[in-house]
Amino acid sequence: MTALPGTVYLVGGGPGDPGLMTVRAVELLATADVIVHDRLIPAGCLDLVRPDAKVISVGKEGGGPSTPQDEINDLLVEHGKAGSSVVRLKGGDPFVFGRGGEEALVLRSAGISFEVVPAVTSGIAAPASAGIPVTQRGMSSAVALVTGHEDPTKPETALDYAGLAVFPGTLVLYMGVKRLGAITESLIAAGRRADEPAALIERGTMPGQKTVVATLETLAAAGEEAGIKAPAITLIGDVASLQPDLHWVERKPLHGRRIAVTRARAQAGSLSARLTALGAETVEVPTIKTEPVDVGTPLDPTGTDLLCITSTNSVDLLFDRMAAAGLDARALAGVTVAAIGPGTARALEAKGIRADIVPQRSIAEALVEAIAGSGRSYPKAMIVRAEEARTVLDEALVAQGSEVSVVVLYRTVREDLSESERTALATADTITFTSASTVRHLLDAIGGPDGLGDEKPRLASIGPITTAELEAHGLNADLEAVEHDIDGLIAALTSDAAR
Ligand code: SAH
Repeated sequence: MTALPGTVYLVGGGPGDPGLMTVRAVELLATADVIVHDRLIPAGCLDLVRPDAKVISVGKEGGGPSTPQDEINDLLVEHGKAGSSVVRLKGGDPFVFGRGGEEALVLRSAGISFEVVPAVTSGIAAPASAGIPVTQRGMSSAVALVTGHEDPTKPETALDYAGLAVFPGTLVLYMGVKRLGAITESLIAAGRRADEPAALIERGTMPGQKTVVATLETLAAAGEEAGIKAPAITLIGDVASLQPDLHWVERKPLHGRRIAVTRARAQAGSLSARLTALGAETVEVPTIKTEPVDVGTPLDPTGTDLLCITSTNSVDLLFDRMAAAGLDARALAGVTVAAIGPGTARALEAKGIRADIVPQRSIAEALVEAIAGSGRSYPKAMIVRAEEARTVLDEALVAQGSEVSVVVLYRTVREDLSESERTALATADTITFTSASTVRHLLDAIGGPDGLGDEKPRLASIGPITTAELEAHGLNADLEAVEHDIDGLIAALTSDAAR
């Protein structure tokens, strides 16, 4: 849905996991002229906004003061009146302790049209993510969403502790971790069961989510001991006793690992997404990028007996160069196609080509063996590859009597690390290397092996060539993939984590 001019959208961003934003929130963020946002919003969601959008932060930044509500109201009215499309982005749901209702009233009285985009609220999502259903048949058939913001020691407190003490169901408290001791004492004093199960969930749905389960009486001390800080949800109710049976985030194979991905930005996303799905936190620190060579120069593989494709990157570039010669997949009709491994074979399949030769291990020596194993001879062979590739394959084919032409499709160049990437890298417990060039360029960027710091992270290598590069720098691979591709690397990481 496109954001309309002169309209203010009161949008909820959900509890923190970017995957829990609504489709509508994403669409509006991507089209609005102005974004006015709080501090607690999903990581990376501002990457979605238009490059020319005006982005205004009104949350507390680094402990500083937040913008007063009156000023926020004025901002919304001003931009709405000026005819802009405005997204007012909040954490969780905009109408649950989000002051969305107040802003809507101001907009209505200023005559500005608004829409509300509801969202997943943290009071339900954080418990769910911890393995606590807020209702459960036979245990809890009602939920109260309560603010813990009111100070129970002040006479003007708005919370009705006597009412909450007899509420027949789960209590979910937003805010107020600091006042938790006073709140739980007041609830017990008002008659709520001291031994009722209770839980604290910090950063629910986000990396670093923490859960503490105790009783109403012991929760504040248990939370303090575990170092629970805001943002956290407090849950009081028998359903908290289900957490030991239902917790699920912690059971993911890579839970608790912080893994750095060093491959090129264009490819990092797919590896990161798979690691995240397995429960890891990932930091992307691209150390290399690929630079196509001889773009637009026609390439005609017809008449070749054997075409060897030695990387996934090469597939698109090969077809681009063939297109420049007015050719498509049919040009490979009579050609034996050899792919370095299953990943490259899959990329070829997407182009309508089923590779004839695919070794299981994605390494040049295995490809040489597989070609020899085909039992045929190839008078004319073509290899398409990166500039800096090894020459094992070229030499082996020449030795087998082929006339070999090598076409360089791209080169790998260093990508500089930003300051924030450097900081993020230092927090990783594991660094993945998907090629020798990622090793070289990363070490280059951090000033050699010493740049890895005193508490050296685990180094994960995709295969022997990459491992050899680590060793050439005096480092060891703590783990090496058995299958030398992304699936193999992920398998090595999960079995390492299971140790
Ligand atoms: N409108 C928001 C709530 C805003 S009040 C919503 O619907 O979720 C801010 C409070 O929300 C925090 O103090 C904390 O109690 C809670 N909160 C927000 N995000 C949270 C998260 N990811 N995990 C736990 N609590 C969270």
